[in-house]
Amino acid sequence: MRIARFSIDGNVAFGAVEGEGTVESGGLVLDIIKGIPYTDFELSGTKVPLSKVRLLPPVLPNKVVAIGRNYAEHAKELGHEVPEVPVAFFKPTTSVIGSGDAIEYPSFSSELHHEAELAVVIGRMCREVPRDRVKDVIFGYTCANDVTARDVQKREAQWARAKGFDTSCPLGPWVETDLDPSDLAVQATVNGEQRQLGRTSDMIRSIEDLVVHITEAMTLLPGDVILTGTPAGVGPLTVGDEVAVTIEGIGTLTNKVIKRG
Ligand code: MG
Repeated sequence: MRIARFSIDGNVAFGAVEGEGTVESGGLVLDIIKGIPYTDFELSGTKVPLSKVRLLPPVLPNKVVAIGRNYAEHAKELGHEVPEVPVAFFKPTTSVIGSGDAIEYPSFSSELHHEAELAVVIGRMCREVPRDRVKDVIFGYTCANDVTARDVQKREAQWARAKGFDTSCPLGPWVETDLDPSDLAVQATVNGEQRQLGRTSDMIRSIEDLVVHITEAMTLLPGDVILTGTPAGVGPLTVGDEVAVTIEGIGTLTNKVIKRG
């Protein structure tokens, strides 16, 4: 099931996405959900065309835990070795935006990069999750763009500003709950031109490894998000660009880059 979060006439709701097509092409309908998707919920049967709503980030995470350098080819393109333990960092909740929202180019950077990533959405509170229980704590998957001020990342020891500025974490367009994430194409395009194309099967650490590693340290809550790293091909974004992250079996997350007003 594809679960979107949206607003219509000032009200916010979750809905199950039905029909064929994309956000742009139309033809999709939302069946409004009664209750909260992570627990018991039912479909209301009340339907609205997706073209009539504003999509919101599909989850409101308590935290976004991101993993760096999880694809060997990407580590190499930035001149890094594959780390012995996964590199983990946070993106703040204020960095999260939805599909169709604008990425605001930060004033303190002149080298903004896209990073297409598979995002894991957690479905239940968990800590110290054993490998064989990881699938039980996952609610679903969505597309992410780990937008990075690369110049700032290079000159500051911690990545809080480089990867945590407002609008640096587009998520969406919805969460797909029925998906085998082990071998999916992950693509980024800028203005329709392909920039990144990788497969989740090339991750150095699997999703199981990452959930075990992160929950060894901290409790994850329903709605928390894990970004699983980006394949090779990261590159610059400029004001006016439209960047799209497409993941096989999920959909396309599209955002325009604007100057911060
Ligand atoms: Mg990344």
